[in-house]
Amino acid sequence: MDAVKKYGHAIFLGVLALGVVAIWYIVLYVEAHRVFRVTFFDVGQGDAIFVEVPNGNQILIDGGPSDRVAAKLGEHMPFWDRSIDLLILTHPHTDHLNGLLEVLKRYDVGMVMEAGVRYSTPEYGEWRDLLKKKNVQVMVAQRGQRVHISPSADFDILAPFENSENTSPKNVHDAMVVSKLRYSSTTVLFTGDAEETLEYKLLMSGADLAADILKVGHHGSKTSTANAFVRMAAPKIAVISAGKNNRYGHPHQQTLDTLEKFGVKIFRTDRDGDIEFTSDGNSFVSEF
Ligand SMILES: [Zn+2]
Ligand SMILES: [Zn+2]
Repeated sequence: MDAVKKYGHAIFLGVLALGVVAIWYIVLYVEAHRVFRVTFFDVGQGDAIFVEVPNGNQILIDGGPSDRVAAKLGEHMPFWDRSIDLLILTHPHTDHLNGLLEVLKRYDVGMVMEAGVRYSTPEYGEWRDLLKKKNVQVMVAQRGQRVHISPSADFDILAPFENSENTSPKNVHDAMVVSKLRYSSTTVLFTGDAEETLEYKLLMSGADLAADILKVGHHGSKTSTANAFVRMAAPKIAVISAGKNNRYGHPHQQTLDTLEKFGVKIFRTDRDGDIEFTSDGNSFVSEF
């Protein structure tokens, strides 16, 4: 009887100690993630960018070419967190869309933002079916919209210039969702695979393109990142999302030369892996 009492006491204390450790783990985890962080995941040849806001909101821009993004989210999100507030699909090419299918299956998604162009691939069909099945709210992106994600953070949609829902653009890169994220006085410009045609359209529109970080268009292809566009955006940092030894030869030397000419510091997922930046509202710091 005495032994039961003795061991029972020890087990009780053990469980209590574990409970305290678990609570501290959660408190420390939540505190560590109470920052504004933008992570460019290394998902091979494609784009997947994760934005964490101090109020707990999480946004994923594109999902890369495979379900690798799900593993990345697993590393960056606590196991109990099964929701993402906003998914942005910049355009329906597989190197941006495919990973989002797995994300839609595994997570509760608050809202999706996309251009909504017609695109007849099995993957895009599955995307539409999943959105319907899971009853996800879809917002058709269009220039002039502003999405508030916290009192000090919002997304401004700079393109597409007109409602592109159910349209069939010759090049889906011209109906790209281009957005600018602002957190206090720090900014990031997300261009997806925008090419020079759209870059010039943005320049001519008088949009405020100035950004601390530029997500370089189309994986550093030479069809993007025009001189005038970089001059106007005047970023301190450029991030190129490309796969190691990819068959397209991205990023192109011409793009690297343009960015270097303007004194922009270049980060590349093919060389640097996942690239994280945190902002205190005044400037970005790279977590390397
Ligand atoms: Zn792409
Ligand atoms: Zn593309």
